[in-house]
Amino acid sequence: MAHDRHAPAPLPAALVWFRRDLRAHDHAALYHALRSARRVWCAFVFDRDILDPLLARGLVADRRVEFIRDSLAALDEALAALGREHGREGVRLLVRHGHAIAEIDRLARELHVQAVYANHDDEPAALARDAQVRGLLARHGIALHTSKDHLVFERDELLTGAGAPYGAFAPYRNAWLRRLDAYFLKAYPVQRHAAALAPLPDGMAAGLPALEAMGFARSNLHELKIAPGWRGAQALLADFLPRMADYARTRDFPAVKGPSYLSVHLRFGTCSVRELAREAHARAQAGSEGARAWLSELARRDFQHQVLHHHPRVVGHCFKPEFDHLRWEHGKHADALFAAWCEGRTGYPLVDAAMRQLAQTGYMHHRLRMLTAGFLCKGLGIDWRRGEQHFAEHLNDFDLAANNAGWQAAASTGCDAPPWARSVDPVAHSRRLDPQGRFIRRYLPRLARLPDELIHAPWEARPVDLAAAGVELGDGYPAPLLRPDEARERMLARYGAVKEA
Ligand code: FAD
Repeated sequence: MAHDRHAPAPLPAALVWFRRDLRAHDHAALYHALRSARRVWCAFVFDRDILDPLLARGLVADRRVEFIRDSLAALDEALAALGREHGREGVRLLVRHGHAIAEIDRLARELHVQAVYANHDDEPAALARDAQVRGLLARHGIALHTSKDHLVFERDELLTGAGAPYGAFAPYRNAWLRRLDAYFLKAYPVQRHAAALAPLPDGMAAGLPALEAMGFARSNLHELKIAPGWRGAQALLADFLPRMADYARTRDFPAVKGPSYLSVHLRFGTCSVRELAREAHARAQAGSEGARAWLSELARRDFQHQVLHHHPRVVGHCFKPEFDHLRWEHGKHADALFAAWCEGRTGYPLVDAAMRQLAQTGYMHHRLRMLTAGFLCKGLGIDWRRGEQHFAEHLNDFDLAANNAGWQAAASTGCDAPPWARSVDPVAHSRRLDPQGRFIRRYLPRLARLPDELIHAPWEARPVDLAAAGVELGDGYPAPLLRPDEARERMLARYGAVKEA
């Protein structure tokens, strides 16, 4: 590897620790390691501190674990290919199943590296983990270097004129767009320095475990055609680019292929956010409204991460502390309502179809996330944290910052959340978001024969119409769990009691 005459002498060896960045292209930590060391190994740890609780909750066929495993197989191949291009045979990804803190410490010592490189992960638990790893490595004189990679702008990079974090999205987005330029969108040219990739030392196994060896089983990921890894992301991006121009027009309708479906790839870093933002930015500059709207969602993603970074108390608490005094429904009846919501048995077809989409695919359309979340906390009076937890367990793209922000917005307890008195009318939403009931019919086939105008509120249908469509309310499909007017009164009383307008 060629080194600048004035650059510090390269380290003999370094380890790259992959976490939510499972790709070999345009990768900040990998690039910095390759530039800084003569020999570089790459590793991932299936962290039992994260996985064991999933198993304890019976989430054995977890699509995310399978997605990660398959993405690691692709990453292993990509690293080997990068090595071969530079005449290095035997480059492999090291994979371990254990406790990340101990495994990284052990690997770093076994490989005799002087530094470990990783990309930032600003979730509170990840920061605590990294602090422990840093401390352990320091005892052996090994450094832990971390870099921005997951976001376009992070942490304190965008602050208000007064030097404070933004508390509202609109001004943040404006600042984000103003700062965005070629420098922040530039790819890290990993391939230029890949000659430093080192083959596995003799006797060390690469070690990618089978799902079963970790206690997991195959999910329906393949049937859903959710393709993992860099290639999976590139295929989705290629599919989305010609549709991006229509995004602003199509994004609100769950029966339409409007969004990109890239969230799972953004979550696990099987694509580079810089590449996505570059594509959108170029099109937005050329006048595409759709690209502008999509770029704005990437800005929202950054915004939510900086909220979590500056206000970690949002994990488990309302961003607006006065709402921590809200009194949610609890007890057996509330548990029954919550179970009905989780299982798509509320009697509101679009809510139920959305919850079934989540259960069957691990994805839910954004508008439906808003609708189902609002329905749970504003309609049924159930604590938003219970819904947040359910989504966390089932969303393929589960991301603490985005999920927490989405739930706190739905409950009006969050940063920049809509006013709490805004009601959730599931039937009006259903008529607007899925006018012909196409999405409802896909996930609730038993309602398929109801005419378009009745499918949003089957209880309003005459018995003769229900019979003609083969629908029996209360037996085949549940009667509605709530009456919107009563629910609204309860909601106003609940929020009114904490006296926040
Ligand atoms: P696209 O519309 O194609 O958007 C592109 C990307 O922009 C997304 O992949 C995502 O990274 C980002 N994005 C889009 N909308 C939002 C948004 N409102 N907030 C933050 N980022 C956004 N997103 C997650 O990635 N993980 C979650 O756990 C998550 N939980 C949510 C929970 C609730 C209650 C709500 C209301 C929203 C949640 N979102 C979450 C945000 C949003 O619904 C998803 O990012 C989006 O539906 C993913 O689909 P897509 O990739 O096709 O999005």
